[in-house]
Amino acid sequence: MSKKAVILGTGLGGLATALRLTTKGYQVEMVEKHHQPGGRLNQLKKDGFTFDIGPSFFSMSYEFKELFDYCGIANPLAFNELNPLYAVYFSHRDKPYYIHKNLEELAKEFGMNEPDFVKKAQGYLKNAKEIFHDTEYRIVKRNFDSKLDYFMALASVPLKHGPALFRNMWQELGRHFSHQDTKVIFSLVAFFLGATPFDTPAVYSLLNYTELQHDGYWNVKGGMYKIVDEIVAILKQRGVTFHFNTEIVSIKGTNSAMEGLVAADGRVFKGDLFICNADAASFRGKLLGRRSYQEPKLDKMDWTLGPFTIYLGVKGKIDDLHHHNYFLGSNFNEYASNIFKTSVNPEKPYYYVNVSSKSNPECAPEGCENIFILCPVPDLRYKPDWSDSEALADNIIEDLGNRINFDLKGNTLTRTIYSPVEWEKMFNLYKGSGLGLAHGLNQVGGFRPSNKDEGFDNLYYVGASTIPGTGLPIVVISSKLAMERILLEHPNN
Ligand SMILES: Cc1cc2nc3c(=O)[nH]c(=O)nc-3n(C[C@H](O)[C@H](O)[C@H](O)COP(=O)(O)OP(=O)(O)OC[C@H]3O[C@@H](n4cnc5c(N)ncnc54)[C@H](O)[C@@H]3O)c2cc1C
Repeated sequence: MSKKAVILGTGLGGLATALRLTTKGYQVEMVEKHHQPGGRLNQLKKDGFTFDIGPSFFSMSYEFKELFDYCGIANPLAFNELNPLYAVYFSHRDKPYYIHKNLEELAKEFGMNEPDFVKKAQGYLKNAKEIFHDTEYRIVKRNFDSKLDYFMALASVPLKHGPALFRNMWQELGRHFSHQDTKVIFSLVAFFLGATPFDTPAVYSLLNYTELQHDGYWNVKGGMYKIVDEIVAILKQRGVTFHFNTEIVSIKGTNSAMEGLVAADGRVFKGDLFICNADAASFRGKLLGRRSYQEPKLDKMDWTLGPFTIYLGVKGKIDDLHHHNYFLGSNFNEYASNIFKTSVNPEKPYYYVNVSSKSNPECAPEGCENIFILCPVPDLRYKPDWSDSEALADNIIEDLGNRINFDLKGNTLTRTIYSPVEWEKMFNLYKGSGLGLAHGLNQVGGFRPSNKDEGFDNLYYVGASTIPGTGLPIVVISSKLAMERILLEHPNN
């Protein structure tokens, strides 16, 4: 008889693991606290508008192709490549910078601000490319059985990358570029890791290589939630059962084997093996009672910024907004150094704006746009009180309206706000941190919570807070790494 796996959580990590497990003949049952699947890759439908609530694009699109190939399925998703990648608006400049993958075209955007741009960018990206390829299989796409194993893997990375471990991204950019706007634009990738360029090691310049030269950025025709819809449809065809509105609050197990997950309503979900897609650190502390993951210890770890998100349905078409846009001020260094640890809302916020109705008209009623605004904010450790959410949203909407010369407030048909409080409640994100554990050198690879439990030999972890880290393609890699362990340790006979 085939083995039964119970997966806690239907985020992309859980869904991708379910696809892989069913491909190898395992029975799968999935339990989810939210009312619908997807985790952070979720959807809000309101007043005739459809919003993707979290991710709006991704890099390394080939990881999705690898997943579907592994599962013997033709890729059911149509990917759109972003070109230009995005538009960046600064408060000190009337027109945006369009970020093109083609360096000659990008050079025209920077003009005389950054003389010899192409040569400088080629030098910067050459290093970034080498870091990407020298770590891809040695560090990112592999499991570690111990810290020693991890150190051995690190030792196999060419020594020339050593200095990039000790410099931060901002310092690295300063070695190659001179103009503030160029450095700020290249450093935006640090925010994709939920951090700032001042606390992100220079090795992550590899993300500039992934966006500008490697595979670029992509989104999905019909909206990002198509990823979830399509995977769930396949899983249902394969007989996977789903239980929504079902929060797991404790576990049953003997010394070395987990036996069941216990839901808040008392139901027990039993299986031969278990995969946890919830936060790998807080699950260990809260549900398994592990000492090293209790709240005071978790609070001392580094967590990524909280998301403050606004979903606006607006009457009218807005020509000055593109599919992906960044709106920045002119005090970047001061802003980025304070954003993490303050309890006060920023007066002049920096934010990202996505308008998916630009390429998916079915996401908004005719003649309307669906606007998603994401502003990185401190997590609940630093700012526990979000009773001022409406005021912050008003401030951001007013700023955006002024900058695109459109009466957003007067044309708003629907408005929803999620502060870190809502993000924590919806998906059990620790203290409302949007991307989970941060990616400093002390919290990646062998130092990140492992995807194999320390106590139960039939419990595995998948998703953003275990290895390799956050972001959609990286979470897909995480499902591959968990699966490798499962096939080795609990093969389906
Ligand atoms: C606002 C925002 C924007 C983002 N933008 C991008 C982007 O543009 N591109 C990109 O690549 N990445 C982006 N990310 C990151 C990306 O969303 C995540 O890395 C990825 O979706 C994480 O997937 P996961 O499976 O690890 O976890 P999750 O999506 O968090 O899934 C975990 C699931 O477990 C469930 N769960 C937790 N605890 C329990 C419990 N006790 N019982 C039952 N169920 C439980 C949760 O409800 C959730 O559904 C963004 C994230 C946010 C928040």
